[in-house]
Amino acid sequence: MAKNIVVTGAGGFIGGHLVNDLRQQGHTVRAVDIKPLEEWYQRFDDVESLSLDLDLRDACVQAVDGMDTVYNLAANMGGMGFIEHNKALCMLSVLINTHMCVAAQEEGIDRFFFASSACVYNADKQKDPNVTALKEEDAYPALAEDGYGWEKLFSERMCRHFREDYGLTTRVARYHNVYGPNGTYSGGREKAPAAICRKVIQAKLDGTNEIEVWGDGKQTRSFMYIDDCVKGTQMIMESDILEPINLGSSELVSINQLVDIAEEVAGIKVKRNYNLSAPKGVNGRNSDNALINKHLGWEPSIRLRDGIERTYAWIYDQMTSNQPALV
Ligand code: NAD
Repeated sequence: MAKNIVVTGAGGFIGGHLVNDLRQQGHTVRAVDIKPLEEWYQRFDDVESLSLDLDLRDACVQAVDGMDTVYNLAANMGGMGFIEHNKALCMLSVLINTHMCVAAQEEGIDRFFFASSACVYNADKQKDPNVTALKEEDAYPALAEDGYGWEKLFSERMCRHFREDYGLTTRVARYHNVYGPNGTYSGGREKAPAAICRKVIQAKLDGTNEIEVWGDGKQTRSFMYIDDCVKGTQMIMESDILEPINLGSSELVSINQLVDIAEEVAGIKVKRNYNLSAPKGVNGRNSDNALINKHLGWEPSIRLRDGIERTYAWIYDQMTSNQPALV
């Protein structure tokens, strides 16, 4: 059945893809982002697109007016280089989720989704590159990523208490590293997969065949391709899963292995200059998918090699043409 859906953060990476998928299913979509429309990563003629600052309560009221479903993806975020240096700014995203919850409850919204993050997990559980995959319960006792992770953890609980106290139906996914085309690949907010692709492409284009890698390359992560993220987000939204749940790939790789894959796709070998003083985040992080498998009989499954091939191709096109990233 067609719904009236508002997606916040729609001018960004995941929001843009989600809007596209929802409109293709025949839903009426309102897309909202603070960025001026010409800076959105994806925009669609058949979607109402609003440039609003959702830190403000009135803007949140306007965003949800007449809608029945909310996907709240708006946040100030970026890769490690960004979140380590912008803790206060990341914490200010608490205004967005707070005002969106209040507005959604007042509007009588049917379902409300909040995009949380693996950065909520206790840092002590992520010291070893041979990490034991993180289970949902590992967020407590709380020792989240400073700034960004604490905001996500607090906002998760806000969703929980709006559900328990006010009857707002909330769903929360903890995304683990999402990557793909139409995302940030330069400028300081990019995350590891896009950054590595960009550096390898640059090394190939200017013939230096040399890249900088943050940390010693031994830190481990899992990376979820955008199509899995968009699918899983909607499955969680439609489910009866009340507590925050992991949405991530369980294909664990080191950053060095990520570089290996980018090299393979590029068809070159690069010299790796390790920058040990650059932000590198926790030593190891992976997604335990037992719970999502139990509830949905599904988990993200797109192989990193396949996803990087598509992401590399898109970034390559962006870097070698002057076309804006709009469709
Ligand atoms: P993104 O930066 O591409 O998109 C977020 C969007 O929110 C941006 O376009 C930004 O302009 C918008 N925004 C920020 N402040 C706003 C405000 N005050 N009002 C309106 N819009 C505002 O990031 P993304 O990768 O698409 O992430 C989407 C969501 O998923 C975020 O909540 C993020 O924290 C979460 N998340 C993403 C990842 C990932 O790997 N990409 C991992 C974990 C969690």
